[in-house]
Amino acid sequence: MAELQDKTLNCKDCSNDFVFTAGEQEFYNEKGFTNEPQRCPECRKAKKQSFRDNRNRDRN
Ligand SMILES: [Zn+2]
Repeated sequence: MAELQDKTLNCKDCSNDFVFTAGEQEFYNEKGFTNEPQRCPECRKAKKQSFRDNRNRDRN
């Protein structure tokens, strides 16, 4: 099996470079994900946050 190496990817949302670490790649492989992440961790977090905010808003 090929040795995993940290990879620099470009975020689709904010256009910033972010590192897709070897550890994350291993995690993705284990889960069977074939796609690389499209967004940096900050944007992924922001997206999750807004999803939660929407749910909260619905409840009120
Ligand atoms: Zn981003």
